[in-house]
Order: sequence, then structure tokens, then C-alpha cells
Amino acid sequence: MRNMIIIGSGPAGLTAAVYAARANLEPLLIEGKEPGGQLTLTTLVENYPGFSDGIMGPQLMEEMRKQAQRFGAEIVNSHVHAVKLKEQPFRVYYGDQEVQAKTVVISTGSSAKLIGIETEIQLMGHGVSTCATCDGFFYRGKEIAVVGGGDSAMEEATFLTKFATKVSVIHRREALRASKIMQDRAAGNPKIHFVWNTVVEEILGSRETGVTGLKVRNIKTQGISELKVDGLFIAIGHNPNTDIFKGQVDLDDLGYIKTQPDSTRTNIPGVFACGDVQDPIFR
Ligand code: NAP
Repeated sequence: MRNMIIIGSGPAGLTAAVYAARANLEPLLIEGKEPGGQLTLTTLVENYPGFSDGIMGPQLMEEMRKQAQRFGAEIVNSHVHAVKLKEQPFRVYYGDQEVQAKTVVISTGSSAKLIGIETEIQLMGHGVSTCATCDGFFYRGKEIAVVGGGDSAMEEATFLTKFATKVSVIHRREALRASKIMQDRAAGNPKIHFVWNTVVEEILGSRETGVTGLKVRNIKTQGISELKVDGLFIAIGHNPNTDIFKGQVDLDDLGYIKTQPDSTRTNIPGVFACGDVQDPIFR
């Protein structure tokens, strides 16, 4: 029986672990499939307070991990595959273990959807990004592409025009899914160009050179062409990692865990959620 089990090891989970450990709750944190979370997919993090020269994403997460362990958090490198939260004590299952807990913190985050081509993972953090706020600054004076036609893509493209000289929005249809106001804002921006009915077939470049261009296919004509860009931002949505909580904790229409206003409480007393798993807005 544990006082607290924390599920997920991104900044939200590790912050919970630091505080819980310092409150003598002796938390058990189960890391999940991607230890450290989305920040381990980036390179230099320049906007985290306290690191004036920036810090590499994986190193920042390693520091948070060590900080939690210093206060006695127990961290297990495993993946939770099931939970039972409908009655006390709660039960959490990972590997072949069953652990009981008085409280559970859900910090499983969300995962950016990817296009599904091999090079996007190889070049993630080396010219490919899923976060304009995180990485836009590196593209001052450069040309970049954004994939997607929803509000996220419009927001990212508009934000990126602060740095880039040209932003090409590549969308697989010829109508945007984004809200009218976001569409109008993007369409009215002279730096944004739309590439309709088009999908990315290949990302050109290497981890050494970064992204040098894209091979794109027009899905109406099947014509292949090359687009010279220095970076690719993928903005085709996120999936909250909540599959194992479905039917147990209240989720919103998009699958994010519902928390009470100004709180990390879920609908189940003793079950809390923090970070991207309960935040579709700020991320
Ligand atoms: P979304 O609305 O689901 O849009 C995803 C876009 O990506 C769609 O245009 C979709 O194309 C495209 N797409 C999906 N999979 C693709 C693939 N494999 N290859 C190429 N394109 C693909 O996601 P979102 O833009 O992240 O928005 C999520 C929610 O957050 C929405 O409710 C949105 O309104 C909200 N949001 C609001 C704001 C704001 O108001 N400031 C900002 C961001 C997000 P199709 O159109 O062809 O399906």
C-alpha cells in the first residue's frame, strides 16, 4: 500500500514527485514508455526559468528526476497498463505488479500526432518540431513549413512569422478545419503561404545538417515536388494519453481528464491530474 502513486514522468509528474516526497508521502512514480516525456524529444530548451544559457531537454528531465529522487521519490522504469480507480484503495498495474495506493496522480501527458514517415522521428529536434513556442526562435530569418489545417496549425504558423521570412502551410485538403477567425488571421499574414491538397512524402536533411527541404506530393495530380525549407513544424493535433482511464475518470470530449476549476482534483476524491493530460489549451 502506497500513499501516492504518480503515473508519468514528464515535468508534471516529476514536479508532483518532488513536492510529494518533500511532504514525506514517499511517492512511487512509474515512468511510462517515454521516460521524461515530450521534452526528451527536443534539443535546446531556452525558455525554462533558471537556465540562462538554456539546457538540453533530456538533461533538464534528468535533473528533475534526480531532484525527485534526492527527496526519496521511488522511480520505476515501467509502464502502467491498467488501473482500478472506482474503489479505495486504488490499484495500479505495471509489468506483472499490482500496487495499491491511497492517492493517484495522473501525469501521463499527451503525444503530438505525427505524419507517419520515418525521417520525422530521426530529425525531431533537428529541424522537425511539434512546438512552435519551444523552437520557433531557432528559425529567425529562415523559411519553414507547417503541416496541418486546424487551429493549432494556424496558431503555430502565425506565431512563426515573428521569426521566419516565409511560412508555408501544407494542408492535405483545400479547405481548412481551423475556426474562421484563425483562418482569416493566417490568410491575412503576408508571410504565410498555403500549399493545398498536399502531403509531405519525405523530409530531406540529416541530424548534422538539419532539415534542408521537403519532398511533397499533390494528392490531386500526384505530382511530386521539392520545397526548400529549413524547418518543419507538425501541427496536426495531440492525443492525451488517457486510454487506461476511460470509463473510470471523467474525460472531456477530446479525451483530456477533467479537473475541477483551479484545482488538480478529478471527479474521484484522491485521484488528481496535472500537466498536458488535463490541459488542451496551454500545453
Ligand atoms: P485538429 O482540429 O484535429 O486539426 C488537425 C489538422 O491536422 C486537420 O486540418 C487535419 O486535416 C490535419 N491532419 C490530421 N492528421 C493529419 C495527417 N496524418 N497528415 C496531414 N494532416 C493531418 O487539431 P488542432 O488544430 O490541434 O486543434 C485541436 C483542438 O484545439 C481544436 O478543438 C481546436 O479548435 C483547439 N485549438 C484552439 C486554438 C485557439 O483557439 N487558439 C488553438 C489551437 C487549438 P483535415 O482537416 O483534413 O482533417
